[in-house]
Amino acid sequence: MAETLLKAERLKNFINGEWIDVKESTEVINPANGETVVNVPLSGSEDVNTAVKAAKKAQKEWAQVPAPQRAEVLFRVGSIMKERKERLSQLLTMENGKVIEEARGEVQEGIDMAFYMAGEGRRMFGQTTPAELKDKFAMSQRCPVGVVGIITPWNFPIAIATWKSFPAIVSGNAVVWKPATETPIMAFELAKIFEEAGLPKGVVNVVFGKGSAVGDAMVNHDDIRVISFTGSNDTGRSIASKCGEQLKKVSLEMGGKNAVIVMDDADLNLAVEGILWSAFGTSGQRCTACSRVIVHEDVKERLEERLLVEMEKLTIGDGLDESIKVGPIINKAGLEKIKKYIQIGKDEGAKMLAGGYVMDEGEHAKGHYFAPTLFTDATADMRISQEEIFGPVVSLVPVKSFEEAIEVNNGVEFGLSSSIFTGDVNRVFKAQRDLDTGIVYVNAGTTGAEIHLPFGGTKGTGNGHRDSGVQALDVFTEWKAVYVDFSGKLQRAQIDVE
Ligand code: NAP
Repeated sequence: MAETLLKAERLKNFINGEWIDVKESTEVINPANGETVVNVPLSGSEDVNTAVKAAKKAQKEWAQVPAPQRAEVLFRVGSIMKERKERLSQLLTMENGKVIEEARGEVQEGIDMAFYMAGEGRRMFGQTTPAELKDKFAMSQRCPVGVVGIITPWNFPIAIATWKSFPAIVSGNAVVWKPATETPIMAFELAKIFEEAGLPKGVVNVVFGKGSAVGDAMVNHDDIRVISFTGSNDTGRSIASKCGEQLKKVSLEMGGKNAVIVMDDADLNLAVEGILWSAFGTSGQRCTACSRVIVHEDVKERLEERLLVEMEKLTIGDGLDESIKVGPIINKAGLEKIKKYIQIGKDEGAKMLAGGYVMDEGEHAKGHYFAPTLFTDATADMRISQEEIFGPVVSLVPVKSFEEAIEVNNGVEFGLSSSIFTGDVNRVFKAQRDLDTGIVYVNAGTTGAEIHLPFGGTKGTGNGHRDSGVQALDVFTEWKAVYVDFSGKLQRAQIDVE
């Protein structure tokens, strides 16, 4: 089926507008059924060098194209993505496993990003500001950085790529993009769309291959001026230190340990819906997935009961089947990591109320499935309450007050997303002020970001940059301050001020 959709058995790199075959390759496996979807090239540093050379050349001309014209390409990209939404969504489900409804949502996010960033082509605001001296004009403007390197993870193979590549392109940069080896099809499809939309050769280059080979070569390449990375903390930390050595700008979006807070005055039915969607959607493999529920002790038992009833109804299987609510885990290593944390939770003394096992019988035998799992009576300091599990596992942490809930939420190394269910307007405003995360939801789960707002986190989730929103432009542009003196004489700032 994938072959019919893709019309290719093996992907090719997209460098300088050409489709380039690479000798070595590896299989991409559908996590729902263990079948090979396609073969992906395993490129090396030479391929990165070729791509960067092409990007460097293309960027010089691209930067001279007026931004509104650069934006026209993104409008066309968005339109083609819209026409192909269903095909892209099906391929996304095949390579990543997320259920088709969520895959459609992810592709839609990319479409929204295309039109939003195309709009930036006519904004990209700088500032004009009074100069301190007479007959002098002052302004600041955004300038492209040059060649930018984009490294993306498997859990959002198209949305995250659009959060990074579209702002980079509209600001006049050229891109070298390394997608995750596990999910390369969206990159292949998006490269075809760039080509069809008329993006000049070399402005976007896709190099497939392992992080240790292609990613590392990008990070260490002198002509790549910015690295924009999304992935795990271990990888991000190592990339950041290499970039630090080279004084290279680096934007990092990494892990989370996101919590839903349920207060004693919450609408419990709504809270249950929010928890189910954000804990078990994408099988808990979202960076914003809810993996802790901080619950007021007065409603803990009622919440547990309702969660258990609704968890029973979750259907687990191949996400291409519209009736399935929870898809597979990306691979065996992911399953093993989740299994490890189940044991840790048990050893730490948390009480397991549901799930906790690999589903490997019958229709689940060929894929990587894990039963949605609920722990209760976890404490804030347990490892299952502190570390990213990246699976359909949620732990209830009971608390006595609103203040304690905020403290528990903030007591982790990450700061990506948080949510609170309450009907008290005072608590709402205190919570949005005091929750130490880059994203806060009120009366909704921890997932559901919209592309025109900044996406990213505080503390160990990142290094202060943001994807999407107008803030993404900060990663891919340099600020230039421009002073025009039309007095006809030399005026010295700070000195000739009367
Ligand atoms: P990962 O293992 O760190 O991989 C991410 C990307 O980095 C992949 O393309 C990978 O390539 C590449 N890479 C690996 N080693 C590298 C190296 N030494 N140099 C350069 N690149 C290298 O992360 P993942 O398991 O794919 O993604 C899951 C993680 O991403 C979770 O922690 C999740 O929370 C986080 N995430 C964060 C956000 C956010 O916005 N905060 C969003 C989504 C996901 P290969 O795998 O192809 O080798």
